[in-house]
Amino acid sequence: MSKPPKQLNLSPATRAVQALHMIDERTGAVSPMIDLSSTYARDENYDPRQPYIYGRSGGQTVKHAEAVLADLEGGKASLLFASGMAAMVTLLETLETGDHIVAPQIMYHAGMTWIHRLCEKRGIEATFFDQTDPTALSNAVRDGQTKIVWIESPTNPNWDIIDIAEAANIAHGAGAILAVDCTTSPPSTTQALALGADIVFHSATKYLNGHSDITGGVLTCANDGAFWDELEEIRTLQGSVMAGFEAWLLIRGLRTLYLRYERASASALTLATHFQGHKAIDAVLYPGLPTHPGHEIAKRQMTGGFGGMMSILIKGGEAQARDVSRFTQVFVPATSLGGVESLIEHRKAVEGPHSIVAANLIRLSIGIEDVNDLIADLEQALERAE
Ligand SMILES: *Cc1c(COP(=O)(O)O)cnc(C)c1O
Repeated sequence: MSKPPKQLNLSPATRAVQALHMIDERTGAVSPMIDLSSTYARDENYDPRQPYIYGRSGGQTVKHAEAVLADLEGGKASLLFASGMAAMVTLLETLETGDHIVAPQIMYHAGMTWIHRLCEKRGIEATFFDQTDPTALSNAVRDGQTKIVWIESPTNPNWDIIDIAEAANIAHGAGAILAVDCTTSPPSTTQALALGADIVFHSATKYLNGHSDITGGVLTCANDGAFWDELEEIRTLQGSVMAGFEAWLLIRGLRTLYLRYERASASALTLATHFQGHKAIDAVLYPGLPTHPGHEIAKRQMTGGFGGMMSILIKGGEAQARDVSRFTQVFVPATSLGGVESLIEHRKAVEGPHSIVAANLIRLSIGIEDVNDLIADLEQALERAE
């Protein structure tokens, strides 16, 4: 007689690669089936056969991807959305007139635009705090009035680091929840819920999927309950759930998350180190550099690498910076981030005249190509732009 199986304590990397080892019962398929159905037949008692009723509340493939994400974040549950913004808008939809929200001065641009809209249309108040000042967040929260503290770390596109554990203490002290935009620090490097966050947000369009072929967003909670039920209800009523095929692509992308993020982080550090002090560059902004002001906190809360996102300030000014982003041959001049292919972007040109981003700032999303090709490409673009 064989012994009973020994329970293994598998690492998150293994659980991600195997998408929670959900082998299809009927066929044994190792790659999960795709559920594209928009509606679900009931049984002879008129009960749902499975917890699926209608596509707008999410089918099997969506729930499978959510299970993988909740597991990797160490959370209670996850909800997937058609885009990152759809997920963020759903969370902000819980705010009522008179409520107060706190967010960083530099944060995802469309997210800030939506907060401004809420302030104008709904009578919600917002305070944007200076994320480079360690005392600014505690001065920004209002006891009993602040409902959501929203932070992003590292903050796009300067890559300032916000101390998540400290932000959680401040938010909870004021009676607010802490939501963290971890789009550039996925669960392979940052476990925001373990650091005290109540909700983790990701644009799944970026690292989680990693192949620039879907848009998606996800919220994951530390604790479910009435607030979480409200978020799910808003998603069902708004119809902002992710579609089945996108969820399948996301599962496929998640299986290589750890590998991709590790490689992007290693290449980014090599690049940052190479270009720091370069004659055509004023500064390299990357939390993995020991000279970065947030490096010590980043070491504590980004345990699986500092990521592939960095910015460089080009000597000269706006014209040279624009030229560098036009002259690369490997880096693709496009918005977005966290994909396998490296991207380059002149942020000011994209954000428009109201942008407070430095005019000579170039944002790089380091992909998983050969790092020597990336270095050679930037070198030739810098030389041509001089
Ligand atoms: C892209 C992004 C978002 C928005 O996500 P979409 O999928 O584009 O809607 C939010 N926050 C950060 C940091 C992002 O990079």
